[in-house]
Amino acid sequence: MTLHTGLDVLSAAQRGGYGVGAFNTDNLETTLAIIDAAETTRSPVMLAITSGALSYSKNRIADIALIEARQASVPVAVHLDHGDSFEVCMWCIRHGFTSVMIDKSHEDEATNIRQTRRVVDAARAVGVSVEAEIGKLGGIDAAAEAGDGSAQLTTADEAVRFVEGAGCDTLAIAVGTAHGPNKGIGRPHIAIERIGEIRARVDAPLVMHGASSVPADVVERFNAAGGHLEGAVGIHDDDIRQAIGRGMCKVNVGTDLRIASSTAIREFVRSHPGEIDMRKILKPARAEMARVIEAKMVLLGSAGKG
Ligand SMILES: [Zn+2]
Repeated sequence: MTLHTGLDVLSAAQRGGYGVGAFNTDNLETTLAIIDAAETTRSPVMLAITSGALSYSKNRIADIALIEARQASVPVAVHLDHGDSFEVCMWCIRHGFTSVMIDKSHEDEATNIRQTRRVVDAARAVGVSVEAEIGKLGGIDAAAEAGDGSAQLTTADEAVRFVEGAGCDTLAIAVGTAHGPNKGIGRPHIAIERIGEIRARVDAPLVMHGASSVPADVVERFNAAGGHLEGAVGIHDDDIRQAIGRGMCKVNVGTDLRIASSTAIREFVRSHPGEIDMRKILKPARAEMARVIEAKMVLLGSAGKG
């Protein structure tokens, strides 16, 4: 199947009222797990590659992802996650990526708009879609959202101004999620209403970063197998469902794959102390990641939409 742009995949999701997972990949095993899960569940999917994944793999992950994506029987977009410069975005576009993120969310608004616009102008000329980000990711609580402490959250006014100024195709907003395995205490608060307010005024499909669920049972297995993860908490499945119901389209998942793969590796090497074959060690990791991804695709509603 030919590659799809990020906007193709996400516009269909927006029309259909479901979410699409963007899963981070660093290597062959993760890429295969993502594509296998997408084909098993008949789900559209985005393969997300960071600059870190590019440098870890000496850029080979780009080729691996593109080859697997082109051979897949479901719609796949190959996406640069958190591109930090015009140059890395251009490298990815030239290499065949169908979607890039330019993340200048740490800059002031005018700079973020200007630098995003530069990537949008170049990408649009060659039919590649662009994701940008505003706001600051990080945990919030209900009090902070209700009071004037909601500075971290993206507001609808900001979102409208930004999309008009920068012209990005899709927009990552801050609604209380966070990167990594520690997203808050108890059940992290997600500003569900805010998603609806922004969706009502912005046509660009909305993106949620840091949306892993960090399942307690897998963390328990990780720790039981000799790992040490303390206070690991993710986003509740119901909050993901509600976020999609209010118009969230792209849901990024990286941490859940790391926890799944490292747990499976820990368990396997513990129970097979004589095993030296890398393939046998990584096989259960690949299977565990595929299991997590399939469940996520069902949760997001993308299963059956590919
Ligand atoms: Zn992110």
